[in-house]
Formats: sequence, structure tokens, C-alpha cells
Amino acid sequence: MGDALSREAVNIEALRFLRWKDDRQLAALPLGRRGLEEFGAPYYTLHRADLHRVLRDQLPEETLQLGAACAGVKEPGDRGVHLALADGSVSEADVAVGADGIHSTVRTVLAGDAPHYTGHVIYRGLIDAGKLPASFDEPVVRVWMGPGRHVVAYPVEAGRRFYFGAIAQLPHWHAPEWTVPADRPTMTAPYGDWSPAVRQMMETAHEITSWALFDRPMLPSWPGRHITLIGDAAHSMLPFMAQAANQAVEDAIVLAACLRTARAKNHAQALRRYEQLRQPRIDRIHRLSRANADTFHLADGPRQQARDASLPARWTTQNLRWLYGYDAGHLDRRKVAP
Ligand SMILES: Cc1cc2nc3c(=O)[nH]c(=O)nc-3n(C[C@H](O)[C@H](O)[C@H](O)COP(=O)(O)OP(=O)(O)OC[C@H]3O[C@@H](n4cnc5c(N)ncnc54)[C@H](O)[C@@H]3O)c2cc1C
Repeated sequence: MGDALSREAVNIEALRFLRWKDDRQLAALPLGRRGLEEFGAPYYTLHRADLHRVLRDQLPEETLQLGAACAGVKEPGDRGVHLALADGSVSEADVAVGADGIHSTVRTVLAGDAPHYTGHVIYRGLIDAGKLPASFDEPVVRVWMGPGRHVVAYPVEAGRRFYFGAIAQLPHWHAPEWTVPADRPTMTAPYGDWSPAVRQMMETAHEITSWALFDRPMLPSWPGRHITLIGDAAHSMLPFMAQAANQAVEDAIVLAACLRTARAKNHAQALRRYEQLRQPRIDRIHRLSRANADTFHLADGPRQQARDASLPARWTTQNLRWLYGYDAGHLDRRKVAP
């Protein structure tokens, strides 16, 4: 998908951490050409719809069946699975992969748990790039860290539009839906003394929505002999490492490799191997995402000063090679074979 992605995405030059009040740079991770040399791949930002289109365009016609909601899944015996669809039909398959997100039906059937509200809410908006000052033209990801909240912003749609997300702590979420249209004055009110750049984005954005952030506990294993989980269904995580969708893609690549190399169609073994390969990495990223919920939101004071002082040493290409340099596509086949 490399060519298609490079047309839709923005190739990010740096990840910048900024002070909430005055845009002062606290740390920067160099990406662009340096990132490519260090990690072997560019760091892209994308609009979700563009990623979906690129993925869909890779599929042969009629592979994708839309509007077919899964209502339940069963392993009737030693072989295969039965998927019950909401229209009453049943599909049979060798293996079922629950890729149905944080509110996953497959996860609920397998594990019996439910998503819980994390106490964080995010306001999200899009801005036409021409409506922002030239200082926003730089292809970078900006993260402003402030008391009780942080703001992330980056270009998408090959630079034509700009995305921002403003994350805050909110003890309770009352709406029955997990995403609702947002009210601009409610969104902007707490940012009165934040940097003018942050306030300008909030004033200019259209299509503002607010989202409750949900999570599920990490499972000790992803149960099922012919059923497994990928992405948020397997391991939803707070978006504070910007990694959950990346991990879903890595899951898919590793799972495919495990199934391809499954000898004698031993799918149960292939699914176990997939889980063993993925769990340690996911656990580490999950823990870091949770920790950032605390460290990103420190009130001004000694802990915040210590955090700011430590950021340049933490956000280096060397420290992050394990994260951004991981290449799911080149797993040694011998290691993957069950
Ligand atoms: C505010 C926010 C910011 C984020 N930022 C980043 C980021 O910067 N980088 C990053 O990597 N990740 C980020 N993420 C995480 C990312 O959005 C998710 O991890 C990713 O979408 C998970 O992909 P998925 O395919 O597992 O699930 P989803 O994207 O949720 O897709 C699940 C799909 O399953 C379908 N579905 C659900 N139930 C059923 C059913 N019963 N039957 C059939 N189909 C069903 C849904 O309609 C949907 O199409 C962010 C998330 C949030 C909330």
C-alpha cells in the first residue's frame, strides 16, 4: 500500500512537545528523513477515511460485505466456527477474527467483559489548512501538555486539512452514545489562558465532536481455538501513545503470517503463536499509554518541571526504536512457524 499511502498521508518531519501556555518547545523527536533512516519507515498522519479507502482498494471485488453485523460466534466442535449474523443467517468458517473494535461482540462472547469509561473525554475537529496561519504549514505533530488536559494537532489529507484533538479529564459521561456533536463554547472555555495557537484552532475548526474514551482490561490470553481477536477488540488502549490503530495493523500482519505458515491447517496452534508474538509488545504499549494519562496532565509545579526536564532524553530515536522500528512484515518465518 506504500504508494497509495504516500499520496493520502502527510510525511511527518517531527513530533514536538510544547508547553501549554506559550508554545515553548520542551522536546522534539526528529522524523522525516531521519526517522526513515532510524526506523526504516516514514511516520504518516492520515484521515481515517483515507486509510479505509486505501485498504478497501487492495481487496478483490466482493471480498467486503457491508451491513452484515455479527450477532454471535460459536465453536461447535473441534473444527471451525459458526458466525450468527443479525439478519438471522449463519456463516461457517475455519477461523473467525473479531476485528470489531472496542464494543466488540466477539470479545464479549469470548471474554464476557464490557468496555468501561476511563474518565477522559476528547474534543475533535477538522480545519481547512488555508484558514490557519503559515506557522501551521510545517508537517509536524504538536502535543501541548497542560494541567488536566493536553491537545494534539497534525495535518491530514495530504496537508489539505488539519486535525486537532483536545483531551480532558471528566469524571462522568452522561450521553447514551460514546460520541456526540460538541458545543464550541463548552469546548473552548477551559482553554482561555492556553497558547493563542491552541485557541485559534478551536475557534476555526468545523465538525467538532466530543468522544468518551473507553477501555477494556487486558486479557491474560485471547481465548478460543478457532476464534481470535485483533485491534481494539483484543486490546483497546488510551490514545496517548497514538498506537492503537498501528497495533491493529501489526496484529493483522502477524496473524496472517501465523495462519499462512500453519502446518496441516492447525489453526489453534497458529492462533496461539500469534498471541505469544503479540502480547508482550501490546502489554508494554498499553502500560505506557496509561502512564501518559498521568504525566501529560500534570499541574504546573515540581513534578511538571521534572517531567519537562526529562522529556528530551526520553523522546529520542534511540529510545523509541523498539516502538517505531518494529517491522511486523519481516518476522522470521522460522520463528512464526508453529
Ligand atoms: C480519540 C482517539 C484518537 C486516536 N488516535 C490514534 C492515533 O493517533 N494513532 C493510532 O494508531 N490510533 C489512534 N486511535 C485508536 C484507533 O482509532 C483504534 O485503535 C482503531 O480504530 C482500532 O481499529 P479496529 O479496526 O480494531 O476497530 P474500529 O476502528 O473500531 O473498527 C471496528 C469495525 O467493526 C465494526 N463492527 C463493530 N461491531 C460489529 C459487529 N457486531 N459486526 C460487524 N461489524 C462490527 C465497526 O462498524 C467498525 O467498522 C485513536 C482513538 C481515539 C478514540
